[in-house]
Amino acid sequence: MFTGRKRDAIWKYFTEVKTDSKTLKVKCVNCQTQMSALVARMKTHFNKNCPGAGSSNNGDVDTPSFSSLKLT
Ligand SMILES: [Zn+2]
Repeated sequence: MFTGRKRDAIWKYFTEVKTDSKTLKVKCVNCQTQMSALVARMKTHFNKNCPGAGSSNNGDVDTPSFSSLKLT
């Protein structure tokens, strides 16, 4: 049972990543950045560090456009 893991709204913007370790990781749907699956960390990333969230977080996150994929 996963009753201890609350599904915060922030999970809408992240997908779970399977790793070899026991630590669950998540990947940002906006910029593909991976990080530990900690809600506080995910929110900090989304609000401050995510290059794709600032301009495109007005709803349509179900269909990521991958517009942030830039080859530099
Ligand atoms: Zn991001």
